[in-house]
Amino acid sequence: MSHEKVIIIGSGPAGLTAAIYAARADLAPLVFEGLQPGGQLTITTEVENYPGFPKGIMGPELMDLFREQATRFGAKSRFELVEKVDLSARPFQVWAEGERYTADSIIISTGASAKLLGLDQEKVLMGHGVSACATCDGFFFRNKVIAVVGGGDSAVEEATFLTKFASKVYLIHRRDSLRASKIMQARAIEHPKIEMVWNTTVKQILGSKESGIQALVLEDTQDGSIREMPIQGLFVAIGHEPNSQLFKDQLEANPQGYLLTQADSTATSIPGVFACGDVQDPVYRQAITAAGSGCMAAIEAERFLSHHA
Ligand code: NAP
Repeated sequence: MSHEKVIIIGSGPAGLTAAIYAARADLAPLVFEGLQPGGQLTITTEVENYPGFPKGIMGPELMDLFREQATRFGAKSRFELVEKVDLSARPFQVWAEGERYTADSIIISTGASAKLLGLDQEKVLMGHGVSACATCDGFFFRNKVIAVVGGGDSAVEEATFLTKFASKVYLIHRRDSLRASKIMQARAIEHPKIEMVWNTTVKQILGSKESGIQALVLEDTQDGSIREMPIQGLFVAIGHEPNSQLFKDQLEANPQGYLLTQADSTATSIPGVFACGDVQDPVYRQAITAAGSGCMAAIEAERFLSHHA
């Protein structure tokens, strides 16, 4: 068993920025990187809106730089998944891969994960024609006809990215207008390989593990009519949910599961436990806002420790 001043759970822009700041405050933070080291940016392509990179930077590369910067100042990375926490008393307890760790403070930066449509075949065909990550799986759909579901920035970004591989991309949205940012909408709508399918939901995915996807069964949300659309791949891009299950019944959360923090602070309902990034942010959900809140969490943890250690 080891005891730490700060344990950081999660390794996206929030967690690794917290690690940089906590390490520079001589707190030698231990970072549990979890299932997806580097977080959601490691399954995206080019990041064009992170300040300081006027030509853009690939998401995985950006996160490697974050980690390198944190380890340079003494942060310790563990590529392990936290299985359980006990926040009922200090020192807090954390279990990862069967080992128990204790900490005087905890920074939670577990992020959010892709939502699925909830269709019968969706999970069965995941990796066999269905995907929630265009960057990971786009390559497998060279010269194929595919569909993307969703109307936000993720769906529009994925549809545009997938035109590099696919011969045609249908962008299926349940309403008649996108919520994606105007610049990204324009890129998709004007793209010759992308066809918008408005006011439509996916009712069923037709296919099997052996043969892949053959078609989608679609419903028109306005007149209720049903039709089949032959396609070979489906990308689900309908948003995310916070990875907060680990803290259920221990920390206050909103009805969607986003951890609640005090105004202008990353302080959770338990003193000494701080939350930053997408796990507590249903509004902005950007790498730069996550990084900013990671910085806040580390500064607040340092102040907490100077009064309570
Ligand atoms: P989002 O903005 O929440 O959009 C989710 C989309 O999926 C919405 O259009 C929604 O439809 C649709 N949807 C939700 N549940 C559905 C269901 N069960 N069936 C069919 N459609 C469903 O999520 P996001 O696109 O992942 O973006 C999340 C955040 O990340 C946003 O703040 C976004 O700006 C940001 N982001 C930024 C970039 C970038 O700047 N490069 C890239 C990706 C994401 P309705 O519109 O009808 O609600």
